[in-house]
Amino acid sequence: MKVFFLVLSLVTNVIYAQHSDLRVGLYYGKSVQQLVVENVSGLFEVNIDSCVLDTIQAKCISKFQVDNGKVRFQLNGNKIGLYDTVSFRRLEDSCIFRLGTNDFKSNLRKFCGGVRIWNTGGNLTVVNDVKLDSYIAGVVEAESGIGRHLEYYKVQAIISRTYALSHKRKHKGVDICDQVDCQVYHGLSEKDSNITLAVAETKKMVLVDGDIQLVSAVFHSNCGGQTCNSEDVWSQPLNYLRSVRDPFCSHGINSNWQKIINKREWIRYLRKNVPDRFRPAAPLADFPIDYDQKIRRLNYTNAGYPLPLKKIRADWKLKSSFFSVQEIGGGVVLKGKGFGHGVGLCQEGAMEMAELGYGYTDIFKFYYPEVHLIDLDTIEFYRLEW
Ligand SMILES: [Zn+2]
Ligand SMILES: [Zn+2]
Repeated sequence: MKVFFLVLSLVTNVIYAQHSDLRVGLYYGKSVQQLVVENVSGLFEVNIDSCVLDTIQAKCISKFQVDNGKVRFQLNGNKIGLYDTVSFRRLEDSCIFRLGTNDFKSNLRKFCGGVRIWNTGGNLTVVNDVKLDSYIAGVVEAESGIGRHLEYYKVQAIISRTYALSHKRKHKGVDICDQVDCQVYHGLSEKDSNITLAVAETKKMVLVDGDIQLVSAVFHSNCGGQTCNSEDVWSQPLNYLRSVRDPFCSHGINSNWQKIINKREWIRYLRKNVPDRFRPAAPLADFPIDYDQKIRRLNYTNAGYPLPLKKIRADWKLKSSFFSVQEIGGGVVLKGKGFGHGVGLCQEGAMEMAELGYGYTDIFKFYYPEVHLIDLDTIEFYRLEW
């Protein structure tokens, strides 16, 4: 095996990504004890701890396993050793590899760029060093699916780029992770050429506020007909995250939902949440069940005290806080609208706007009043001016 006979050469900083790459934590927060990496295309440089081991090309298969606080590394069936960090650095733009965890067989995902692996507390930390726009395309595919309108993909690409750049360093040791708390990322986008086209046609475009700061470009699946003010869901009021009436999402697949709850359980829940100061004045057994939320409200008030609707949503794991309540046949039916927190851009509304012929700038103007579309280089220019 060629790699065994190469003299290890010490180099500095080899474990780091290429300068402009985004460091994306993969399987973030999950328990990964074993990992398989298959090189699909391009030339990679293999680094173990701070040494260059070799260069490898397509069809190499590596296996990694946690072992005594280190990473056990096997290449093409040969045991290489135990190391703190093993990395495959991309030497070409065409570098693509496939990854699988634990059972090595299911859920193999393809990624662009390089990969670094180390042991954190008995689990493998896996980081994909990837070009920003390749990551953005992967996020657009994972967050929006395939078969959407090109203008919609442009919207999602700009949002995802803005979000990624404004949330860098959220987690220790990586720029961003692949889970829903950041943006869902399953690797290379290759199922819809419109996604790659949209990312290329919006290259370097991001959204900023009046102070040329990247905005918090939040989005959700379906607003149910009305989006929320940012402070209604979180604490900070932002001038571009204002509640708007949305006529575009009413036919989306997530526009309506329903949940049936046992009446006694519903009342028990409300009784448990009565603040002490309301307790004597709240005869909950008799309170009216029927509740109509025509426009979005902050609190459920039927029981004579304000109970935040976002708390009810969290406690009952509801799709949204935009719901009405009806008593039907001795049960309680929650009839809801929309899916998600409701702040910012409504994805199903934006998809419909794109289908109706609106351009991506129109869609931004509708959902994010007061934002500006700007080139990343222009931000640098303004910063230099200051
Ligand atoms: Zn994250
Ligand atoms: Zn909507």
